[in-house]
Amino acid sequence: MPISLSQPSLLKSQSYINGLWVSASDKQTFPVNNPSTGEHIIDVDDLGEIETIQAVEAAEKAQKLWQKRLPKERALLLRRWNQLILENQDDLARIMTLEQGKPLAEAKGEVAYGASFIDWFADEARRLNGDVIPTFANDKRVLTIKQAIGVVAAITPWNFPIAMITRKAGPALAAGCSIVIKPSDETPLSALALAELAHQAGIPAGVLNVVVGRNAKAIGGVLTSHPTVRKLSFTGSTPVGKLLLSQCANTVKRTSMELGGNAPFIVFDDADLDAAIEGAIASKYRNAGQTCVCANRLLIQEEIYDEFAEKLVKRVSELKVGDGLTDGVNIGPLINSAAINKVNELVKDALEKGAKALIGGKGNDSGKQFYEPTVLTNVTADMDIFSNEIFGPVAPLFKFSTEEEAIAMANDTPFGLASYFYSKDMSRIWRVSEALEYGMVGMNEGIISTEVAPFGGIKESGSGREGSSYGIDEYTEIKYICMGGL
Ligand code: ADP
Repeated sequence: MPISLSQPSLLKSQSYINGLWVSASDKQTFPVNNPSTGEHIIDVDDLGEIETIQAVEAAEKAQKLWQKRLPKERALLLRRWNQLILENQDDLARIMTLEQGKPLAEAKGEVAYGASFIDWFADEARRLNGDVIPTFANDKRVLTIKQAIGVVAAITPWNFPIAMITRKAGPALAAGCSIVIKPSDETPLSALALAELAHQAGIPAGVLNVVVGRNAKAIGGVLTSHPTVRKLSFTGSTPVGKLLLSQCANTVKRTSMELGGNAPFIVFDDADLDAAIEGAIASKYRNAGQTCVCANRLLIQEEIYDEFAEKLVKRVSELKVGDGLTDGVNIGPLINSAAINKVNELVKDALEKGAKALIGGKGNDSGKQFYEPTVLTNVTADMDIFSNEIFGPVAPLFKFSTEEEAIAMANDTPFGLASYFYSKDMSRIWRVSEALEYGMVGMNEGIISTEVAPFGGIKESGSGREGSSYGIDEYTEIKYICMGGL
């Protein structure tokens, strides 16, 4: 299928290693398809273990020089990369919508959001300050410096094909690390377009490498076992995250894990209901519900349960489902047939156990991978949907009576990524914010992601923080220097 782009060179099928576009050594390729239409977009090279080792070796050589560049020089190159991403926002968004399905407006938003991490960390590159610590002996002085960890591996998912890469590459490169990125094989084209722009920006060969392949086990095997790789930053599912953590144990790599969530979205009876509805729409239905911070369980206080359900249904009925390139579409396709099957199973289980679909509850006529935006009521904690990440446009409404009950329900999960609640009561706002066992709390707010704030989870949602002034610490080691004999 021909794709019209202002800069056709952004559409790549080879991987990017050591500043060069490389094919698979065994000449294997695999197709990238449009999840909306099923149409074939392009065949990309299917790399594996051998090329991943080459990428790690290239990254090792490049890193030695990259870390010696002045922070200001690294910042300059990152700024140029940021600029090129923004200048090519339309092309990047188009590529993303074609391979991932999200509405074009959301894809453009993601390009800008993704670029913001590079911009942010370009500034942070110059603020990696050390400390002079008050001494413990008069003839000694105690200093710390922050140094780049070295070669970093990044394994990223398909739901944010650009932002999940820039959140890692931005701080890694700013700190003086080099990086080998394995993007999801569902969305390799966005990753390769980013690499092309990094190349155009003048990021030196080997500093940023993208290895595309379907054999995640083989590529991941190298990235988690190669002694040269000193850090793995992973965004994806909790089971894969656990596996990668165990693989990293053998060479004691640093890790950042951004894993699954099961976000509660609590609405108390004193809340501004209209604001809560808008927050729920934004948090639940963005990216067709395929984000790890999507509201997964809407907990509504009993006094306002029916009114909330009615208003939410009215708003959901306005959402337009369809191909992401069509104007005005709010909900695109799910990424693949497994995703549709999962949503179907969860909804079926809930309906069989007594839930009601006030709207939706089935696939949409737009195509095999489309699901109707759905609101379920009478949902209870014994249904599978209470404990599983839905990753689809389905809002299950649970009822609670007291604040204690809401908090207990919210925390009744091994996950702890994002949480949300709506209330106007100042004491409750503090009580609930502190009681929620989550890395992030949206208080009277449904969209919380920004490059200026630390994004990350606790419990089985992972460890480490991305974005903010904390984000660069994930890519540095603190070295203690004791100056003696003074
Ligand atoms: P998602 O459900 O978002 O696709 P996954 O955890 O399956 O989450 O995938 C996230 C990333 O992890 C993708 O790039 C995928 O290819 C990769 N991945 C999956 N399994 C493995 C594995 N065994 N080793 C390394 N990477 C893996």
